[in-house]
Amino acid sequence: MVNKEQRYIKGDKKMQTMKKSYRTTNPSPQSPVPSPSLKVYILIVFLFSFAVSVQAEAVRYALIPENPRPGEPVTIGVADTSGAISAVLMRDERRLAKTVFFAVPAEGETQSFLAAVLTVPSTVRPGAAMIRLEGAKGVVCEIPFAIAEREFESEIIALNTALTRLRTTPDPQRTAESERLWAILNKTGTESHHFGNFSPPVGSTRRTSIYGNRRVYQYASGTSDTTIHAGVDYGIPTGTAVFACGPGRVVLAQNRIITGKSVIIEHLPGIYSLYYHLDTIDVSEGTLVDVGTRLGLSGATGLATGPHLHWEIRVFGENTDPDAFLERPLIDKDAILSKIYH
Ligand SMILES: [Zn+2]
Repeated sequence: MVNKEQRYIKGDKKMQTMKKSYRTTNPSPQSPVPSPSLKVYILIVFLFSFAVSVQAEAVRYALIPENPRPGEPVTIGVADTSGAISAVLMRDERRLAKTVFFAVPAEGETQSFLAAVLTVPSTVRPGAAMIRLEGAKGVVCEIPFAIAEREFESEIIALNTALTRLRTTPDPQRTAESERLWAILNKTGTESHHFGNFSPPVGSTRRTSIYGNRRVYQYASGTSDTTIHAGVDYGIPTGTAVFACGPGRVVLAQNRIITGKSVIIEHLPGIYSLYYHLDTIDVSEGTLVDVGTRLGLSGATGLATGPHLHWEIRVFGENTDPDAFLERPLIDKDAILSKIYH
């Protein structure tokens, strides 16, 4: 990563090198006019320095938070003129997660800008990493940052014979449902419905499992499997009202083998909320919902050991900590604008 200051230093060094070579190649005071090739060189260096300063000005960015933990979403803001199209989380030249930018329109006195939400996967280890912004002509800028430490809890879930079979027996329908889900979660729509905080999907605060738990499923057969819990479980009786956590469009309303009666809402391009194990579904695919719209009633359909709501947030296919956006907006306009424009 070459930051603004380093770029200027680099440019200055080039100018010094050029001056030195000018003196070396033109020692005689009688021939002070640079040769044609040197003129071209001077011009190139001048244009390069200009281009660098323009680019450095164009890639002012905001990163919220600046040191995310594994499993946490990061909001990135850049100016419209940056040309950023996508962002990739990188470590050691490996691409760990990706996302796309969308326009945040001007509102009242505020200017428009580009924003993206990228998730640090919960499996990524803490330490130095980089976010690379990419545009039509290649890399727009690289943002070094550090991923903070985080501990996750462990839990063991015993499954009876029927639930074991649900997870382990090959089933073409389950495979087809999985493919459809991934096709939805990995694509990005074009609509922006919501930039603010999410609201809790249920009135209850009783949680029976939290995000990122390292889970061991103990099968009835005696074997086991390890997974990571991708959302939050609210332990609520069957028949409890479940609400949309924010405005958006329903992109899936379907009874699925593993997740039971399920609803998925897209709030921003590539940013989805998911509601699983419902007893009834009140909404249909394609409809717009507002924050607080009743999506259905909770239940224990699909792979569930008891009545609960599984609530999950996905960012470009990657699960992310749902609590993050209960506490801060998806796109904090004021914080971003104060960093990218002065
Ligand atoms: Zn769950």
